[in-house]
Amino acid sequence: MDVYNEDTHKSENFSKIFKIVDRGVIKEAKCCIECGKVFVNRKKWKDNFKDVKFCSQKCKLNHKNS
Ligand SMILES: [Zn+2]
Repeated sequence: MDVYNEDTHKSENFSKIFKIVDRGVIKEAKCCIECGKVFVNRKKWKDNFKDVKFCSQKCKLNHKNS
């Protein structure tokens, strides 16, 4: 899996969007600010992926508690 960095999104509080190539398909991805895992854009985040900070609800809750 190749990872390309792209300086399209600059924000202090949000993880940067980058492109990954997954089996020949280019996808938008981010690193979760809680667990550091790379997660790709999902249908439910289609319109607000730039505002997504966590890979899962669990990480969102963990982040609040830490
Ligand atoms: Zn996470």
